[in-house]
Formats: sequence, C-alpha cells, structure tokens
Amino acid sequence: MLQQILAELAETDTRLVAVSKTKPAEQILEMYQQGQRIFGENRVQELIEKQATLPKDIEWHAIGHLQTNKVKYISAFVSLIHSVDSLKLLTEINKQALKHERIIDCLLQIKIAAEDSKFGLSLADAAELVASERFSELTNIRIVGVMGMATFTEDEDQVRGEFRHLKSCFDQLKTGYFSDQASFAEISMGMSGDYRIAQEEGSTMVRIGSLLFGAR
Ligand SMILES: *Cc1c(COP(=O)(O)O)cnc(C)c1O
Repeated sequence: MLQQILAELAETDTRLVAVSKTKPAEQILEMYQQGQRIFGENRVQELIEKQATLPKDIEWHAIGHLQTNKVKYISAFVSLIHSVDSLKLLTEINKQALKHERIIDCLLQIKIAAEDSKFGLSLADAAELVASERFSELTNIRIVGVMGMATFTEDEDQVRGEFRHLKSCFDQLKTGYFSDQASFAEISMGMSGDYRIAQEEGSTMVRIGSLLFGAR
C-alpha cells in the first residue's frame, strides 16, 4: 500500500506524512524500513515516547490540536507543527525554539470544514495574525504554509470546495505576506478518504493514517 500511494503522490510531487497515531513502534519501524521518513502524531505523550525509541532520522510532525503547555515536550525535535491556530501558541513555540537554539517550522491551521468541532483560523484571523507586530517579533518560528481538514462526508463536491478554499487562502496569504519567502510553500491537506481530491486541488503534503496502517 505504501509504494502504491507513493507512486500516486509522485505524479504531483506531493509528500506523504504517514500518520502513525495509536500504532505501535514496530509498525512504524516496518514502514521506516520501506523508506518512509515522515511520520505524524496527534498526541504529545505518544510522540515523545516514539521519538525516544525510533531511529533519529525520522521527521516527526505534530498534526493534531496542540496545547500551549505541551509545546516544551516536543520542541527539541519536532520537524513541523501542522496545527498552529493562535498567536499564543505560536509565541510559546517561539519561546521553546529559542531555548533549543533552533527554528521550528509551522503551518497555520485554517478552518475549512462546515463542522463545528474542527479547530482552525479563518482567513481573516490568519491574515491578522501574520500582519501583527507581535508576529514580526517571533524570530525562531517560520510559517511554511497552511493546513486544513475537510468535512467528514461522502459529498465529494463539498470536500473539493473546501480544499479549493484552502488553496485560495494559501494563495492570498502568499501574495499578501509571504511573496518574498520561498519557504512559504506547503498546503497540508488530504487524509485516507480524500487525499486524491486534495492532490487534484494542489496539496503538497497529505496526512494518511488508516489507509496505510489499517483501521484504528
Ligand atoms: C488522524 C489524522 C489524520 C489521518 O487520518 P486517516 O483518516 O486515518 O488517514 C490526518 N490528519 C489529522 C490531523 C489527524 O488527526
């Protein structure tokens, strides 16, 4: 399954984040041995435990809602935080990154789903955040793009519309605030059920769990 998905993604240079949440280290190692290096986790405790025992060249991505008080546990090693949805969280990530003398890459999570439960900023919130003076003072974070989760529905047109909206948010933020930064280039969208649609709509990074590892 891994090789098949990778072959599909290669057509558009889309990267794969293998979402290994709830799955044991042995299963991650198996996928690592097939060449996969980027893994995504949504719980801090699990992320720390797996990072400690698995190979050090794995790129760990934090993909789920992240509480400010937990940032310190992952800030030494996390490669990309997909789910930044407030200036408060970003300020804390910056503070912890400073302590470790590193720059932490982050994505702004944009709310694109119709469902209430999904976290994220509106485009206006995101624009306000990156235009703020406080944001300009954060030296140890780098915003490299946006992330979003579509509504969990069979309605493909709705999902496609939501992904298209995220791509449009990316384009507007790029033009308005990041036009001189080549590193602002990522659109993290697409999961097991909708990654093909996401790929068609311009995803640069899909987050796939159950299709790779089996149902949770
Ligand atoms: C669990 C999760 C995924 C992967 O979901 P699957 O449907 O298993 O592919 C992707 N993104 C986030 C934020 C998740 O929490």
